[in-house]
Amino acid sequence: MSSPPLNGNKAAKEPGRDFIRDIVEADIKAGRITTPVTRFPPEPNGYLHIGHAKSICLNFGIAKDYSGRCHLRFDDTNPTKEEQEYIDAIERDVRWLGFDWGPYLFHASDYFAQLYDWAEHLIRQGKAYVDDTPAAELQAARGTLTEPGRESRWRGRGVEENLDLFRRMRAGEFPNGARVLRAKIDMAAGNINLRDPVLYRILHAEHPRTGKAWCIYPTYDFAHGQSDAIESVTHSICTLEFEDHRPLYDWLLDNLPAPSRPRQYEFARLNLGYTVLSKRFLTELVAQKRVKGWDDPRMPSLAGLRRRGVPPEAIRDFVSRIGVAKANSTVDIAMFDFSVREHLNKSAERRMAVLRPLKLVIENYPEGQSEELDAVNHPDNPAAGSRKIPFARELYVEQEDFMENPPKKFFRLSPGIEVRLRYAYFVTCKSVVKDASGAVTELRCVYDPATKGGNAHDGRKVKATLHWVAAAQSIPAEIRIYNPLFTRPDPGAGGDLMADLNPQSLEALTGARLEPSLAKAKPGDVVQFERLGYFCADADSKHSKPVFNRTVALRDSYAKA
Ligand code: ATP
Ligand code: MG
Repeated sequence: MSSPPLNGNKAAKEPGRDFIRDIVEADIKAGRITTPVTRFPPEPNGYLHIGHAKSICLNFGIAKDYSGRCHLRFDDTNPTKEEQEYIDAIERDVRWLGFDWGPYLFHASDYFAQLYDWAEHLIRQGKAYVDDTPAAELQAARGTLTEPGRESRWRGRGVEENLDLFRRMRAGEFPNGARVLRAKIDMAAGNINLRDPVLYRILHAEHPRTGKAWCIYPTYDFAHGQSDAIESVTHSICTLEFEDHRPLYDWLLDNLPAPSRPRQYEFARLNLGYTVLSKRFLTELVAQKRVKGWDDPRMPSLAGLRRRGVPPEAIRDFVSRIGVAKANSTVDIAMFDFSVREHLNKSAERRMAVLRPLKLVIENYPEGQSEELDAVNHPDNPAAGSRKIPFARELYVEQEDFMENPPKKFFRLSPGIEVRLRYAYFVTCKSVVKDASGAVTELRCVYDPATKGGNAHDGRKVKATLHWVAAAQSIPAEIRIYNPLFTRPDPGAGGDLMADLNPQSLEALTGARLEPSLAKAKPGDVVQFERLGYFCADADSKHSKPVFNRTVALRDSYAKA
C-alpha cells in the first residue's frame, strides 16, 4: 500500500512534533515554567468521539513528553444537558485510549463557590452588573461584526444594587431568564465576545453533582479560564473556534485575583470525511434511533470504534500522523483506515470465513472422510503458532470467487480452471449444478491429492488461492459489514443532515460460515478473515451463532466504488 495522504499540516513536522510542543519547550527553556500542566475539559453531554481523541492525545501527550500532568476536568456548567451516564462513559473512554489522569480529576462545579465570589469581586470593582433586559433583546443589542452593540439601560447600576440583585438571583428570587450578570467591558469592542458578555444566568435545575445548591450557573467563558487558573494549568489548549474568546479569557484573568496565569492556545479541530463530529448531531442520531446507540459500530464515538474492533493504538497512531495544525482541514477516512490496518495486520491472527457461501463438492474425495490440515495463525509471527482446520469432500467457497463465463482477467474458479485452496489442495472445477432459476448452487470439482499443503511437485502453477471452510464442520455466523454513515463527504452541508444518511451503512450477512475454531471467540476479539478484512466478535454473539463486525476491509474498495 502506498503511504497515507498527508493532511493540510503545512508545517509538516516530524511525527510527534507540533507548534504547541514548540511553545511548551520554549517556555521550559526560558524558565517560564518547569513542567507543563494541561487539561482535557469535556462537557458531559454526550460520548467522546474521534475528534476528542485528537485533543486527548495532544493534552495527555504533552504532559507525558515533558514530565508534566494532564487533568481530566468535566466542564459541567449546564445541568440541563449533562448526565452521569456521560461522565462514566468519558472516563472509560479516556482510559481505554490509554491515558490516566491519576489523582487529577476535577469538575468546573468544584469551583462554583469560588466563581461566585469572583463574580461579586467584579461587581465590587464596578466591572460587572446585573441586567434585566429580556434574552432576545440582549442578543439583538450585541450588534454585528460591522455594527457596535448598544449599551443596556441597566449598565449604570450602582455596586450596592448590583450586589443585592446578584445575591437575590442566587437566593432563587427570580425565574429563569429574568436577569443575567454581565461583565462591563466595551459594547463597541470589535470582538463581540468583549461586548459585556454574560457571566451568570438563572437556571432552576438540579445539577448531577451539586444538586439543588445552585440556581444560577456560570457561563463557559466565566468558568473556563478561572478553572484553569485554580488548577495551575499552564497551557490551556482548545480548538480554533475559541480563538475569539481568548481576549475575554485574558480580560477575566487580568481582572480577578486569580492564583495563576494560564495561557490559551488554539489548534485546528479534526474533521473527517463522510463523518459528523459534533456531539449535538451525534446525540440526535442516537435519540432518533438512526443508529443502535452511542456504541453502534458506525458511530465515530470511541465506544463505537471500540465495538467495531478498532484498537486504541490505531487511534493514537492516526492522531499522530495527522499532526496538529493551525488551519482547519478535512482528513480522508482512508487515512484512518490505513492506521487501523497497520495495527491489526500486526496483531490480528488469521482465520478463514466465507461470507456468502457457495457449495463446492470434490467428487474424487471419499465420502464420509475428513482430515485436519495445518494453518498458520500469523504469517509474520511464528510465535503465534498454527491450528488445525478440517477438510472434507464438501466445502464452501465465496460466491464471488466463481464465474461461469469469466472475463479475461478473472483468475479464480470457473469451469476447467484449477486453483489452490489455502493450506489444502489444488482443485479443478468440472461442472456446475443450477437451480430452476438458472443460478449456480454447487460446483463439482476434482482435487489432486499430490498437492497437499498447496504445492504441486511437478511445478505446475495456479493463478489464484481461495479461502474456504468445510461445509459440515463450519459454524454459522452473522457478519455485519459497515459502510460510511453518510453519503457525502460533508454531511449536512446541503442543509439536512438526516437526508445525507447512507441507507446502506449496515449490511447484515446472516448466512456466513466460519472455521470451527472461531466458536471460541469472545466479544472484542479481532481476527483477519483471510482475503476479506479484519473482523471483531460482537457482544451480540450467541454461542450457537457468533456475530462479527467488519472493522475494516483489507483494501480500500469503497473509495473506488
Ligand atoms: P462538539 O462540537 O462535538 O459538541 P465540544 O467542543 O462541544 O464538541 P467538549 O466536550 O466541549 O465538546 O470538548 C472537549 C474538548 O475536546 C474541547 O477542548 C474541544 O476543543 C475538544 N474537541 C472537541 N471536538 C474536537 C475535534 N473535532 N477535534 C479536536 N478537538 C476537539
Ligand atoms: Mg464545547
